[in-house]
Amino acid sequence: MKALFLDGIGKLSVQDVARPVPKADEVLVRVEACGICGTDRHLFLGEFPSFPPVTLGHEFSGIIEAVGQDVTDMQVGMRVTSDPNIACGVCEACQAGRVNLCHNLQAIGIHRNGGFAEFVVMPRKQAFALPLSLDPLHGAFCEPLACCLHAVDLAGLKAGASVTVIGGGVIGLLTVQLARLAGATRVVLVTRNRAKRDLAARLGATACLDPAEVDEYLRQHGGADVVFECAGLAATVAGAPRLARRGGMVVILGVLPAGQMVEIEPFDLLFREVSLITSFLNPFTHARAADLIAAGAVQIAPLISRTLTLDQAATVIASPAPDGEIRALAVPAMTNRA
Ligand code: NAP
Repeated sequence: MKALFLDGIGKLSVQDVARPVPKADEVLVRVEACGICGTDRHLFLGEFPSFPPVTLGHEFSGIIEAVGQDVTDMQVGMRVTSDPNIACGVCEACQAGRVNLCHNLQAIGIHRNGGFAEFVVMPRKQAFALPLSLDPLHGAFCEPLACCLHAVDLAGLKAGASVTVIGGGVIGLLTVQLARLAGATRVVLVTRNRAKRDLAARLGATACLDPAEVDEYLRQHGGADVVFECAGLAATVAGAPRLARRGGMVVILGVLPAGQMVEIEPFDLLFREVSLITSFLNPFTHARAADLIAAGAVQIAPLISRTLTLDQAATVIASPAPDGEIRALAVPAMTNRA
């Protein structure tokens, strides 16, 4: 089978390797689609700890081709999505129910071979069923959606709440949709790209702003109950509290490089009692994300910018995301047809 390997920092190759064999508690999945995430680019550039040689790809779904001898509740032919984050279950964080903070967290596509391949093996407990009637590309969005769900859960959004989302990438556009589903009636998206703003409006944002329009908007409408930072830049993290109303909350999803510092004004946070929290990964939210996508409750098709062979995916991972691109998906089956 063909697989896209990270061979070292700055080095990717598509190789012909043996199809993996599932262990007793694992399933073998034929990958239908795998999303190219910013983390894949960070791994390529050495900005995120990597463990080469390894097949990248942590946002994927596909069809079960074989099951290990102990797997009795999943069958060949089922479509599944992968929760890539494997918690140990025994460390102090896991025992406290904080599996996303597991001391021994192993991620499929980072620590062990992932979804930029024709086939991948994964523990049965990381697999969640999806209907066969679903568009085969849509299952690749369960992982990012599960991360956004955790953020929305942490925010405790109430019906009628006001929300501002900073950043119109996949994470921001999924968060806009979840905020509406959670009952927020005012959902503002702030992003620079016009096409992303237009798309956000179609996905349910009630107002879409260029960052330069934020001051005027705040003067007219005031801040939001909850601000989701989904851009991952020092400037947007530092500027997020200003977008929250008195007593509001800022939830940071965006990832900044380790060691990067951001200026925050504690006086402002204190006197307006604005809380600043972070949301990391997808603890116990993957099944709900799969259900939301299976039910068609979240629009996925407009988030797919293009589909790629594994060779094309290697080129795309090694380059910055083009302006306006939301999510490119590797479709391994296209590789042999190319
Ligand atoms: P992305 O596609 O890079 O989206 C970020 C968006 O921010 C871009 O689309 C960009 O769109 C927008 N942006 C850039 N400068 C801006 C500014 N000054 N003001 C407002 N928006 C601005 O990335 P993504 O996949 O959506 O992920 C977003 C962040 O979440 C990343 O940092 C990622 O690493 C992180 N993440 C976190 C988790 C978690 O569990 N916490 C999970 C997945 C991803 P424009 O060009 O339109 O401005």
